[in-house]
Amino acid sequence: MDKVVIITGGSRGIGAETALLAAREGYRICINYHSDEKAAHSVLEQVRALGAQAIAVRADVSSEDEVIALFHHVDAELGRVTALVNNAGTVAHKSRVDEMSEFRILNILKTNVLGPILCAKHAVLRMSPKHGGQGGSIVNVSSVASRLGSPGEYVDYAASKGALDTFTLGLSKEVAGEGIRVNAVRPGYIFTDFHALSGDPDRVSKLESGIPMARGGRPDEVAEAIIWLLSDKASYATGTFLDLGGGR
Ligand code: NAP
Repeated sequence: MDKVVIITGGSRGIGAETALLAAREGYRICINYHSDEKAAHSVLEQVRALGAQAIAVRADVSSEDEVIALFHHVDAELGRVTALVNNAGTVAHKSRVDEMSEFRILNILKTNVLGPILCAKHAVLRMSPKHGGQGGSIVNVSSVASRLGSPGEYVDYAASKGALDTFTLGLSKEVAGEGIRVNAVRPGYIFTDFHALSGDPDRVSKLESGIPMARGGRPDEVAEAIIWLLSDKASYATGTFLDLGGGR
């Protein structure tokens, strides 16, 4: 079967490393991004240099109209999607709950919960035999925060990843009989630009001493797990969570 993957937030960090690995594994690749066109096109050039057929498509995953347009681009230019990596995510400055604005909380929930659910909906519409598909695989990028709660930092973000975990469980059971597997990875502290969003770009280095393995993780270490879960090598895994937190 041809392998066609959509990687949301594929322009930077974990998503970009996943795109590079997917290129080596023979996928046709859609790199989705939200605002940083330059970064998306840099990843696009790199995956094409590895021989992959690839496109970069701007879409805010929290808008269904934009998600529909994203999937239409993929239908037309790469073919029917067989794999989805729900990786796009956001966080806000370190804050207590009693200091959080409604705007901030909504933005996090829309990007981290509504976005993956909408993308999964439109993937299932193409993967399920009920809709003429031949199955597929979805990997949601959650966080160890979903089981630690992130008190005093960003409980709203942790709660959004908790919702994503529950969505992973529920959807995995809903479509298990249709040849679609749904799993999640839960990274710990990973060296990406993500931490600048929380107001501390050097956050991972500062927190390394509290990690049992005494170091932050690399985005390629998360990408390896994502690509394995997407692949047929993980053929009996659904509704599972792979924690990549260096022991946290
Ligand atoms: P990153 O380097 O900040 O990259 C985030 C990516 O998501 C970018 O490509 C960004 O696109 C995209 N994005 C953000 N909002 C979007 C939206 N509304 N629609 C479409 N794309 C959007 O982050 P990362 O560290 O690689 O994180 C990737 C995932 O891993 C996230 O879900 C995050 O919660 C999770 N995670 C990260 C860590 C960590 O320590 N880094 C730990 C646990 C979990 P633009 O740049 O174009 O805006």
